Amino acid sequence: MLSPADRIIAEVDRAADEIVDFAARLVRIPSVNPPGEEYEACANAIGDQLRAHGADVHLLPAIGKVEHTSRHPRINVVGRHEGRVKGLAVHLNGHFDVVPAGQGWTRDPFGGEIVGDRLYGRGACDMKAGLAAAVFAVEAIRRAGVAHAAPIEISGTVDEESGGFAGVAWLAEHRWISRERTKAVIIPEPFGVDRVCVGHRGVYWFEVVAEGRTAHGSMPYLGISAIEGMSHLLDLVRDELGPALAGRVTTMPVVPDGSRYATININGIDGGQAVGEAPSPCVADRCRAVFDRRFLLEEGLERTRAEIASVVATAQSRMPGVRFTIEDRMIVEPTRAPEDAPVIAALTGAIARVVGRPASLVASPGTYDQKHVDRIAGVPHCVAYGPGELALAHQPDEYCSIADMVMATKVLAISVLQLANE
Ligand SMILES: [Zn+2]
Repeated sequence: MLSPADRIIAEVDRAADEIVDFAARLVRIPSVNPPGEEYEACANAIGDQLRAHGADVHLLPAIGKVEHTSRHPRINVVGRHEGRVKGLAVHLNGHFDVVPAGQGWTRDPFGGEIVGDRLYGRGACDMKAGLAAAVFAVEAIRRAGVAHAAPIEISGTVDEESGGFAGVAWLAEHRWISRERTKAVIIPEPFGVDRVCVGHRGVYWFEVVAEGRTAHGSMPYLGISAIEGMSHLLDLVRDELGPALAGRVTTMPVVPDGSRYATININGIDGGQAVGEAPSPCVADRCRAVFDRRFLLEEGLERTRAEIASVVATAQSRMPGVRFTIEDRMIVEPTRAPEDAPVIAALTGAIARVVGRPASLVASPGTYDQKHVDRIAGVPHCVAYGPGELALAHQPDEYCSIADMVMATKVLAISVLQLANE
């Protein structure tokens, strides 16, 4: 007599071709973001599959978001299986938007080609394979005839690649994912079959504008150069702030190792007259730069912001004639699932059983939808686990290993069942 877990594993093996076929079908829908192409088709494909698996399916346009337009509607999809008892649901969430194909492909980025053990295509790894694994993990539980106590939900969402505001954030704002409804969330982002991602660093994107006073370029001493003012700030970022950040390391297991440190990047800069246009001899009265500061859980947002304000104040004191202003562009709080979260225990146990080696806990250098689950939905018990190699995400000739897809489906199925029954 096979155990429920063994029956579920057998059902996943039997469904292997269906899993690959479903992932390939999703890859063939070019749900490219930006601008958000074919979202409705992709949401429908997922919804139809969930309905065929007996789920109660809701297609949810992100009404109220500026991104949701008639040309590029933002449609999310949620499927739900009731459990034996009422209570909080176990939720699997994956984004179905993909970044543009870009250059350098030797295969059709939207062909969904299967070659040997690989499914090729934009989004194969990030993260349509993960979505297919989630959908069939739940289906394997059903086919095995194993009862689950808590409800189980699967969602496919939009716009993760551009911040997830009309996707997971919308679902959380409308309480489809929420502390009143959800006990744990697993996001099958491609961290690999033996790694559980427990969270990510924070993001502080801001813009600094320096304003001076223009004058004739032949008499620059009569003006105040905003570019010169900005150069003081850039010096401080390079010579003082940068080295200070490089000395701060997080206890979170961020991979790759270089991202365990606090960092800052200058995303862009413009000032004075547009280079390449007909020149005019003017002192630059305006210069602005955009910065991307990745901060650690241990640093916190307030300290991060205060430190930037103080660096800008120092630049200001070095060039009093220039007026500096800081404007926030995007803020993402760092997030980390509690160490003793049952979702971590369930996944690490299932990985040991299915993959046959111990799981490692990692954290992500960039952010993903976990932030919305934690901060808006109020569900800290959220992690990422899914098939595919992170390094292949957004690359030409992106692919996902089929063996990994099947293995991750088993891990997800066993974990979901355990979480639903505890
Ligand atoms: Zn992703």
